[in-house]
Amino acid sequence: MSAQHCDTLLHAGIVLTQNEKREVLHNAGIAITAGKIDAVGDWDAISKEFSAKDERDLQNCLVLPGLINCHTHNSMTAFRGLADDLPLMDWLENHIWPMEKKLDAEIIQYAGAIGCGEMIRTGTTCFCDMYLHEDVTAKLAQGTGMRAVLGEGLLGFPTRRYSNLNEALDLIESLHLRNKKYGTRVTTCVAPHAVYTTNLELLEKSFALAEELDIPWTVHLAETTEESARSEEMFGCRPVEYLHRAGCLSPRSVLVHCVDLTEEEQDCIAESGASVVHNPRSNMKLASGISPVAGLLERDVNVCLGTDGAASNNGLNIFREMKAAALLQKVSTQDPTVCPAQTVLDMATRNAAKALGQADLGSIAPKNIADIIALDLDEPALCPVYTPASHIVYAAGGQEVCFSMVAGEVIYSNGVYTHFEIEELRECSRRIADWVRAEKVRSQTGA
Ligand SMILES: [Zn+2]
Repeated sequence: MSAQHCDTLLHAGIVLTQNEKREVLHNAGIAITAGKIDAVGDWDAISKEFSAKDERDLQNCLVLPGLINCHTHNSMTAFRGLADDLPLMDWLENHIWPMEKKLDAEIIQYAGAIGCGEMIRTGTTCFCDMYLHEDVTAKLAQGTGMRAVLGEGLLGFPTRRYSNLNEALDLIESLHLRNKKYGTRVTTCVAPHAVYTTNLELLEKSFALAEELDIPWTVHLAETTEESARSEEMFGCRPVEYLHRAGCLSPRSVLVHCVDLTEEEQDCIAESGASVVHNPRSNMKLASGISPVAGLLERDVNVCLGTDGAASNNGLNIFREMKAAALLQKVSTQDPTVCPAQTVLDMATRNAAKALGQADLGSIAPKNIADIIALDLDEPALCPVYTPASHIVYAAGGQEVCFSMVAGEVIYSNGVYTHFEIEELRECSRRIADWVRAEKVRSQTGA
C-alpha cells in the first residue's frame, strides 16, 4: 500500500501532545495537511502511513502546541522601560495615557511588529490583544504569520478612534467583517477596558454585540483594591458584582487579572463559566497583588495566562509567565504542591484555546489546527530531560524555541523569521525611539 501524501511531516524527539490524556510521545511523527493535523503517533507507523515533500527533522527537540498569550497590548512595546516602579494609577494617568493619546497608526505598526517578533521568538503562536488601531495589528499579525484575536479597546468617553458608543460598536463590527478576509487566523473580540473607565450602557451593549457576532468579550477586572474601592464609590458595588448584575458574566467572558476577589466572587465567576486570564508578572511589577489562582482552580475556573503590555511586564514572553504563575501561587499559599507544571502548561495551551472559543487549538491531536513549536534539547539549560512539562514551566526561558508553525506554515526556524527580516525590526525600534524622544521634548517645551 502506498503512503498517503501530506503537506508536512514532523519527526519529533519528544511530543507533549497536551491532548485529553496529556500523552507524551517519544520518537513521534506528526502529519499535517492544509494547516491541520492528520495524525500524530509513533514515528515508524506515521512515516509508513504518510509521505511529504517537506519533512522536518526535530529529533533533538521537544515539540508542543504553540503557546497562547490571552492578554496583550501588543504595541505597548513602544513604552517598554519608559516608566517603571510606579503605582498603577500614577503609571497609567501620568505616564502611559498621555503618550497613548498621541499614538498613531504608524507607531502602532512599528511597535506591533516588535511585539510579534518577540512573541514568535519565544514560542507564542496566538495572542489576544486589547488596544488601539486593531486594523493595523490585524495586518501585522497576518504579515508576521501569527494567529490573533483582536479587540479595539472600548472606553466610556470619546477617543481619537470614535466619538460615542454607537461609533465604537460600529468600529468593532467593521473590524470583525474586515478580519474575515484573513480567514480564521485573525479574528475579533469585544474589549471594554474596565468597569471604572466605561459605563453600564457600554458594558451591556458591547456584551450584546459579542453575543450577536459570537466572539469573546474581554475586560480588565478587579486588578487592584483601589479599583474595587472606585467601583463601590461609582456603582455602589464591587466590580464582579457589577458585571454580574449587568449580565456580562458567561462562558464568553474573558476576565483579565482578577486579583482582588473575595471567596464569594470566586464562586460567582466559577458559576458563570467565565475564563480568567492571570498576568502574574504585571501584577507583581505594579504591586497589584496576587490573584487567588489556586482557589479559582479548585472551583474549576478555566484559568489561562497573559503578559499584559510590555510596559508593565516588561516582555511578552509566556515562558516567564508560566514560571511566575507557578512560583507565585506556591509562595502565596505556602504550599509547593499548588499549581504544578502540568496545570500551568494547560493554562498556556488548552485552557487558553477554550477561553478564546477555539477548541481546535492548544493540543496536538488529529483534526486540530497545526500551531506547533519546538524547543532545542541541545540547549544545556534543558539537559537532561526527565519530565518534559517541568522543563517547559521551570527550566525553559523561551530562547530555546527553534521552530514555530501556525496553521501548518513555518513562521520561524533556527533564528530566521520566514515572513520578515530581523533588520526590519531594528528599523522599527529606531523609529519608535525617535518618536518617543520627540514627543517628550514636545511635552516638556509645551510645543
Ligand atoms: Zn491589560
